[in-house]
Amino acid sequence: MPELPEVETTRRGIAPLLMGRRVESVTVREPRLRWPVSPALSRDLPGQIINDVTRRAKFLLIATPAGHLILHLGMSGSLRVVSGNLPEEKHDHLDVLMDDGRCLRLRDPRRFGAALWTTHDPLEHPLLKKLGPEPLQGAFNAEWLYRHARGRRVAVKSFLMNSHIVAGVGNIYASEALFLAGIHPGRPAGRISLQRYQRLVSAVREVLEDAIAAGGTTLRDFVDSNGNPGYFAQKLRVYGRQDEACERCGAALRGRVIGQRSSYYCAHCQR
Ligand SMILES: [Zn+2]
Repeated sequence: MPELPEVETTRRGIAPLLMGRRVESVTVREPRLRWPVSPALSRDLPGQIINDVTRRAKFLLIATPAGHLILHLGMSGSLRVVSGNLPEEKHDHLDVLMDDGRCLRLRDPRRFGAALWTTHDPLEHPLLKKLGPEPLQGAFNAEWLYRHARGRRVAVKSFLMNSHIVAGVGNIYASEALFLAGIHPGRPAGRISLQRYQRLVSAVREVLEDAIAAGGTTLRDFVDSNGNPGYFAQKLRVYGRQDEACERCGAALRGRVIGQRSSYYCAHCQR
């Protein structure tokens, strides 16, 4: 599943190819995504100039003077900028053709993604409005986590994956950050000190920034490629490594379901 680093890598890959371009046409081959593709998209986007490509959590926001295209990659989506002549494949549900003959193409085999059009402030859209702070920005800090964790017995890993608390920290990066911070994923969120939350905030930033930096090497895959999306095999310390040796202490890593999600940790290093 594309997590925040993949979405940010996608943004960096497609933004220079889209900005300043005029949209010629929009082709919707399959409107039944997680939410129906906005019918207004085909009507209102053509003719518009793309001013900016930004990200909020795992949403990509494509800005034009008339409104914003809001894209989400769901479970299996990918976006590439390809030649408009490139024949579409089975799961290529949306094309935004531009004035240079290239097109922004959304492929989404499982159709959990989204392509929505809004003429209002996209940050006030119902899907985005209640999201917590961005993990790479200053509003996400130890005091914020500590304050919202007071009195909560929920496992810290579930707390960290709650998009109202912080936007876009998914299962993989929550597991990795908790390992780096030395915090057991099952520990109640309300029973973690401010100091330890400081370590957790740094760890979240570190794992996300490392992943985004690793993604930079795959940027070429977003252009004129007909292969798989340019998601990268991230070097993971605990995620998916049950029974392998902890890189710090050598103990066997454990796997357990916490909050209905697979969780991996070292019972020796994480308390
Ligand atoms: Zn260990």
